[in-house]
Amino acid sequence: MMRVPSLIPAALFCGAAFAQPADTVLVNGKIHTLDAKATVVEALAIRGERIVALGRFQQVKPLIARKTAVIDLHGRTVIPGLIDSHMHAVRAALSFATEVNWIGAKSIGEALARLHEAARRAKPGGWLIVAGGWTPEQFAEKRRPTQAELTGAAPDHPIYVQLFYGWAMMNPLGFDVLAIKEDKDVPPAGKLERDESGNLTGGIAGNSATITGLFARLPKPSFDEQVEGTKQFFRELNRLGLTGVIDPGGFGMPPANYRALQRVWQNGELTLRVAYSIFGQGRGRELEDDQALTQLLPMGFGDKWLRFNGIGENVAWGVYNVDNPSEAAREQFYQICRWAALQGMALNIHWHHDASVGVVLNTFERVNREIPIWRLRWAIAHLNDASSATLERMKSLGVGWAMQDAGYFEGEQWLKDKGADGARRMPPINTALKIGVHVGAGTDAHRVMSYNPWVALQWMLDGKTVGGHALRGPEETPTREAALRMYTQGSAWFAFAEHERGSLEVGKLADLAVLSKDYFSVPVEEIGSIEAVRTLVGGRLVYWKR
Ligand SMILES: [Zn+2]
Repeated sequence: MMRVPSLIPAALFCGAAFAQPADTVLVNGKIHTLDAKATVVEALAIRGERIVALGRFQQVKPLIARKTAVIDLHGRTVIPGLIDSHMHAVRAALSFATEVNWIGAKSIGEALARLHEAARRAKPGGWLIVAGGWTPEQFAEKRRPTQAELTGAAPDHPIYVQLFYGWAMMNPLGFDVLAIKEDKDVPPAGKLERDESGNLTGGIAGNSATITGLFARLPKPSFDEQVEGTKQFFRELNRLGLTGVIDPGGFGMPPANYRALQRVWQNGELTLRVAYSIFGQGRGRELEDDQALTQLLPMGFGDKWLRFNGIGENVAWGVYNVDNPSEAAREQFYQICRWAALQGMALNIHWHHDASVGVVLNTFERVNREIPIWRLRWAIAHLNDASSATLERMKSLGVGWAMQDAGYFEGEQWLKDKGADGARRMPPINTALKIGVHVGAGTDAHRVMSYNPWVALQWMLDGKTVGGHALRGPEETPTREAALRMYTQGSAWFAFAEHERGSLEVGKLADLAVLSKDYFSVPVEEIGSIEAVRTLVGGRLVYWKR
């Protein structure tokens, strides 16, 4: 930042409107405000945590004083800070300082090199853990690594590599440390894979309970490592222009796992705004847990940095990834929803298939007949094959849709399941916007997807999988502006924050990113490689490219 000497006589600041100079002024940029008229301005002034002026340079010039930091943007593009409407960020952060990350690795060689590098820094005999965020489709080789390759990269360390929630691979040392010899050692549904001669390959196939159970046996980062991981992960998100997330909890996230986040918040060191919900952990006592936990945690409790945002994405285990739940499970789900409505609580729920979404919507409608829910901003996450009829029902209930780039990794599977015509409209982004559903964009990172918002934005605009197959049709492809709106004010809605964030307007929080390339004019295939050169949250510079 450079400081410019004030050329303006002090008397000019005596008027009430311009009584105080700005702390920071951005000049000479293409600042996309995303206000209702999509105004683009060249200059913006910040005082404290808020925007106090924007427009032509002449309009902010009177606010520049000796103490004002003036940032010359050199024509760069500025956007409102990005907000991911569905990222398991609190969990990802806990282990960010201690895990190995394969996000964005373009070949098995590159992935193995990251393991090798991590081994050089790890404690002797320490675990190397890759906890998802990758797919074989991203590798030039289009396959999973072999056990021999893992061992070759780090011979002296136990290694655990997870693929989504259905498969993991460990090296022989890892098997030894966890005493895994046969299928019964990886409950509840694990199968140790074998080659034709019957030798273990290192692969373990199973369901989400298998993989979650296996992961829970790995050593946990210490509290200090969790705090460090949280700070590092949030800076990494800032590097990509993210200034906020809506966090839906996750497997293995009991209340104690929020202590690191709370510590960073207490220390005033958050660089990302987090709105989080309670993910039901105890099967059969979801309602009791919610009731107990929220006695001192009313809806909306917190501040602009850390705020409690209701319950979900697991509301009740009996309807989590269950397309045809029992009567008892449906009734329990209804009781929890009804309780949430009575408390004025937001609720978000994970759902995959349109064919069974009646389980959710019938329940929401039943509750809504007793207690109107449209002010409560309930939301459904995923639902990539949502029909128009479903979106209409969501609209009339005031239920939002948290939409992610799952198709970037899973598009080839969608093509198999739904055919080319089905995949053309997945997810039905423009239909949802036309119907008027609130749509927030995001990633669902980091076990099942990369957290990179630019990869998600590129995918929203070209519909291409990581393997390069273009699947979505132009009829469901939004404009660049519409895509960005979903990733800013669209997501802010889910945290009841669209009046504070998501666009750059006088009075709003100064959450913004200065971009490495012009999102609005670069070829679409370059969007995925955009990053921030500076990110500000509440007027504070939280990231700058050195
Ligand atoms: Zn989910």
